[in-house]
Order: sequence, then C-alpha cells, then structure tokens
Amino acid sequence: MSRLLLIVVVVAVVFWLFKSYRKRLPKEGVPGEEMPGEEMPGQAEDMVRCVHCGVHLPKRESVLAGGKYYCSEAHRRIHVDKPE
Ligand SMILES: [Zn+2]
Repeated sequence: MSRLLLIVVVVAVVFWLFKSYRKRLPKEGVPGEEMPGEEMPGQAEDMVRCVHCGVHLPKRESVLAGGKYYCSEAHRRIHVDKPE
C-alpha cells in the first residue's frame, strides 16, 4: 500500500519537474523577449540636471544649449530668455 503511494508521489514529482522544465524552454528560445533582471535603470545611462527646474533626466532626452542641460525645449527657451 505504501509502495503504491510512493510511486504516485514519484510520478507526481517527475511530472511537476517535466512541466516546469517545459515552461522554461520557450523563454530561452524566443529572441526579443524581456528577460527579468536584465534592465538596470540609471546604471548605464548618464543623468543630467535641468538648469531651469532641477529635474534629473537621461542625457539623451535632455536639451543641450550653451553647455547646459534642460529637460525640455520650453525650459531651455525660458532660461535663455531670462538668465539667472
Ligand atoms: Zn526643466
């Protein structure tokens, strides 16, 4: 009787392992799918500070004028019109 129970448990464990193994397979095969833990925000990107409002933003999204960074074209214009 207990042997039958052991067989059932072993089959269930093998089935569960097989299921989780198959679940893992498509993620490795499909390119372009997002991999968890791959993104590291703010690590590789240069952050700059808007001279006008002081907000921090990625360098590639900023507006550079006169050696200063701005968060938007509007702030660049405001700052240029009214220098500190
Ligand atoms: Zn700004």
